[in-house]
Amino acid sequence: MEERGSPDGDPARNLEQGPEGPETPIQVVLRVRPMSAAELRRGEQSVLHCSGTRTLQVSPPGGGTDLAFRFGAVLDGASTQDDVFRACGVRRLGELALRGFSCTVFTFGQTGSGKTYTLTGPPPQGEGVPVPPSLAGIVQRTFTWLLDRVQHLDVPVTLQASYLEIYNEQIRDLLSLGAPRPLPVRWNKTRGFYVEQLRVVEFGSLGALMELLQMGLSRRRSSAHTLNQASSRSHALLTLYISHQTQMPPVDPGEPPAGGKLCFVDLAGSEKVAATGSRGELMLEANSINRSLLALGHCISLLLDPQRKQSHIPFRDSKLTKLLADSLRGHGVTLMVACVSPSAQCLPETLSTLRYASRAQRVTTRPQAPRSPKAKPPQHLETELLQLQEENRHLRSQLGQMDPKASGLSGARLAWAQRNLYGMLQEFMLENERLRKEKRQLQSSRDLAHGEQRILAQQVRELERRLLSACYLQQPVPGPAPPCPCVMLPPLLCHAPPPLCPRCQLCPLCCAPLAHWACPRRELHLPQMFSSKAPADGPPSTRPPPWVPPCCPSSAKCSRERSQSEWVQTQVLAEMLTEEKVIPSAPPLPVGPLNTSPVLRGGAAVPNLARRLEALRDQIGTSLRRGRSQPPPP
Ligand code: ADP
Ligand code: MG
Repeated sequence: MEERGSPDGDPARNLEQGPEGPETPIQVVLRVRPMSAAELRRGEQSVLHCSGTRTLQVSPPGGGTDLAFRFGAVLDGASTQDDVFRACGVRRLGELALRGFSCTVFTFGQTGSGKTYTLTGPPPQGEGVPVPPSLAGIVQRTFTWLLDRVQHLDVPVTLQASYLEIYNEQIRDLLSLGAPRPLPVRWNKTRGFYVEQLRVVEFGSLGALMELLQMGLSRRRSSAHTLNQASSRSHALLTLYISHQTQMPPVDPGEPPAGGKLCFVDLAGSEKVAATGSRGELMLEANSINRSLLALGHCISLLLDPQRKQSHIPFRDSKLTKLLADSLRGHGVTLMVACVSPSAQCLPETLSTLRYASRAQRVTTRPQAPRSPKAKPPQHLETELLQLQEENRHLRSQLGQMDPKASGLSGARLAWAQRNLYGMLQEFMLENERLRKEKRQLQSSRDLAHGEQRILAQQVRELERRLLSACYLQQPVPGPAPPCPCVMLPPLLCHAPPPLCPRCQLCPLCCAPLAHWACPRRELHLPQMFSSKAPADGPPSTRPPPWVPPCCPSSAKCSRERSQSEWVQTQVLAEMLTEEKVIPSAPPLPVGPLNTSPVLRGGAAVPNLARRLEALRDQIGTSLRRGRSQPPPP
């Protein structure tokens, strides 16, 4: 039978046009196998009819509504292996692989629907017995076509092959020198998912390649069950690597050369365990096959959803989806051959395959050939490059206009910073370091200012107390004496500073006898007060401590002692009188009405304090002068 055309032209020729742009849909063709002898014997009916070369009609038994499915090409049971090869568009993929693209052909469908037959022909009839040429599948025909094509190329090409199977979620090398052993799947940025330590064999002739294929086919797992006497129990991936000798050799010796790739995937068929009668190991295999096919279906569904396509696709869910990730969403060109049985008995599975295939047609990839060093960049990339260069020039000129002094950079460093981003980063780091140093200096001067402020605050408080005390002591009181502020005080605790002269026991302000300060252990509480200022003669009990209050003005001794200790005493009294709290370190938050004395806060209060201090000094001087000029109170 000759190549089958279509009303729109040859589907193969449509595919020969190459990647149609940035997004290329997955190409899907359908193959319907003929009714088998067993099915005919059982009197089963065919429910599938081809209408033209691209549409399939499904007529459900019992007179249900017909369904129509449209694909890139539909090949019915009468089609030969050669028809399939010519119509499916695999030659276009071969061409793309020669140009450096990564291409994948895979068959899928129910078990016994003819997937393996379509790809590699009927099962081997014996060890080393090749498939008859007329029954050879897409794989052998592509080999022949490709090697012929390579011979006519101007540049020498290196051809290599690998062959693996995924059996029960384990990867086995079908070309391994010893017995196949499980191999790990790895991922890296440049290669995507790949199988580590997979044997990649170089071949120079069609005969050598066919031998590799035979070797792999004979090692592949297959078993007999109700629907298929030689059912594949694994997914098989046969890959051809095509590299031009002008291309760079791979950096890693275990890595296949950079170049085009053509991968044939023979999926194990989905199966209903009940229908195939699988038990024991067969059932385990069937479950594992179904699970990986389910993962594949799930990935395809997500890829179809335009919203989800940008997000996560669970390619890692199975080894199969990992290895097909690049074909489904990556930069590859993909061809699917959906295989179906025409029998009415298989209708549910057939419909499921048809729906699956219809959806897969809407999945797109972005084919990209690996760039060779000599390759010219595509037009849009060239434009983008020019735009970026222009922007770069513009930014450089803007940077050049900046005043180097204003930016704090020296001329040479600025030029260096302009040269690259790394230079700019260095500049930022230096700038940051400078700012950090400045911040540290500011912090230490702020601490100094705080210290100074505390000292000033203490001085102010002391002077205020002195002033208060001086006012009480020096000013004549006309009429009845005002009530002594000390009577409003709570009874002094033993640890409170002693306010009274221990000799006369009189209030320093009103001179009233005050007996309530009588803590016998007072000396223990203020040991620092018993300093060398006190006269050394006399026993300690009689020695007046420095905090003694100003004594009766008539007592000469007391007036002498007052010069040393009166301010300590008046400070204590003033503190109690004004009920001012002593702030150990930080100043309090401002509270109270606006006309109250300013509350110290931070370095800004220091000048205020200094002014207050000055004013207090003046006031004290004035009151003392006035006090001296007046006679002492009785
Ligand atoms: P699958 O791989 O889908 O499980 P197979 O390719 O093993 O199915 O095919 C199952 C059986 O049907 C095999 O015996 C095969 O020879 C036969 N068969 C499949 N497709 C065709 C076809 N197009 N022409 C003749 N026989 C076929
Ligand atoms: Mg098979």
